[in-house]
Amino acid sequence: MKIGVLALQGDFAAHHRRLEELGAEVVLVKKPEQLDEIDGLVIPGGESGTFLKLLGAAGFEKLKEFVRLKPTFGTCAGAILLASEVENPKQQGLGAIDMRIRRNAYGRQIDSSIREGKLLSDLDGSGSPLEMVFIRAPKIEHVGKGVEIIAMEGSDPVAVRQGRAMAATFHPELSDDTRVHRAFLNMAREALVDGTRGVFRGGPSLSDELIRRRREEKDRS
Ligand code: GLN
Repeated sequence: MKIGVLALQGDFAAHHRRLEELGAEVVLVKKPEQLDEIDGLVIPGGESGTFLKLLGAAGFEKLKEFVRLKPTFGTCAGAILLASEVENPKQQGLGAIDMRIRRNAYGRQIDSSIREGKLLSDLDGSGSPLEMVFIRAPKIEHVGKGVEIIAMEGSDPVAVRQGRAMAATFHPELSDDTRVHRAFLNMAREALVDGTRGVFRGGPSLSDELIRRRREEKDRS
């Protein structure tokens, strides 16, 4: 599984390191055509307006198509890029996650901070503590029905997921806790398995099919 890290600008080195530590093969993506070679993408923090400039119209369209199909994880400026609606100021979003996000929402006084939030568990929603590094962070002001909240800080959702897109307004690559990146890699792995569906003409996934065959072999012997 090859994971790309968008390396036009910003905080891509820390993601690179973290993903490699977790066993992924990492490619630094500097050209739009490299998107064709990867199974998932991380869009790092930086300045979302600058990302838009560096991508240009063609790069933006290519990225928009990518995020519809393949697992993508955006942190901070990357989360802003993935949103359907961006405020302060208004700017284009890729629309991968149905949410309204406000740039630089914490004001100048709390430019950067480290706070403790909660990673929500699918099972009971009670959540376990997670250190969160915020740097000129945006705020998720509204999410659509199809959006799952995966982490909260106080009463604010700070990490969300919709389909194959995941976004965090903080920087998990700057904390020692690896759970958020692991969740993304799991999602990318699942998408890769799903991608093999259809090999048996719209039938079960390749792994399901292999399990079924092994069962049959055992039954026969
Ligand atoms: N303030 C930046 C923006 O609006 C995001 C900051 C970050 O990525 N750390 O794009």
